Amino acid sequence: MSTNVLNQFARALSSGAIRVVDLSQPLEAGTAVIQLPPEFGKSWPFRLEEISKYDSRGPAWYWNNFSCGEHTGTHFDAPIHWVTGKDYANNATDTISVEKFFAPACVIDVSREVAADPDFLLTPKHIVEWEQKHGRVEAGSWVLMRTDWSKRKDAAAFLNIKEDGAHVPGPHPELVPFLAKERDVIGWGSEGVGTDAGQAFRFEPPFPCHSGMHGSNKFGLASLTNLDQLPPKGAILVTPPLKIVKGSGSPCRVLALIQD
Ligand code: MN
Repeated sequence: MSTNVLNQFARALSSGAIRVVDLSQPLEAGTAVIQLPPEFGKSWPFRLEEISKYDSRGPAWYWNNFSCGEHTGTHFDAPIHWVTGKDYANNATDTISVEKFFAPACVIDVSREVAADPDFLLTPKHIVEWEQKHGRVEAGSWVLMRTDWSKRKDAAAFLNIKEDGAHVPGPHPELVPFLAKERDVIGWGSEGVGTDAGQAFRFEPPFPCHSGMHGSNKFGLASLTNLDQLPPKGAILVTPPLKIVKGSGSPCRVLALIQD
């Protein structure tokens, strides 16, 4: 038996002892995009334009142009995305050190609570209860909030916008400093269109996940799916954004490695 960890890893992948779970949503024209009040700038939806498809425009090749906002579909949020994180060194998609794109994940399952209350907020108390069963959220881990929200396949149900704004679960304002300071996580991930709750514009501070996580040089992952396939602890996430120069984020093919 080889003692080379990478050889062991390759063998475990080919034998199926390590499984790879895709935590990304399909990226297409119908992908839901965050809606902001009309006075703010707009993020483009995903758009695909065919260049050629084995035809007169290119007899042997198929390819497309695409356009979208950086924060479209399953995506990575860099610290530079928020004003609180703008002055950190190496805080953009092209400068974050690549080692940080591999990190363990803690998955907090609150799908039952969210089924009863779409405005459900995760608090430090929930994390402490989870830790009593699964052990501490270790420094450098992702905390992923499993809500099963990604099972809402219809964009209107997924965005869940009412007259008073969006109703989507997320982190409680008190949870963010707890995770950033007391647990020193690498970032926060959720199944909603963004990392904050739908009503977070009313919170103090507003958008506490963006404000507090990026203000602590931490990352975000939004529009995750298949969190129901992850164990509470033990998965490793692979999360490299595109190397957009000074990018604030990027669509991301988020993968989880699991040992069964
Ligand atoms: Mn984002």
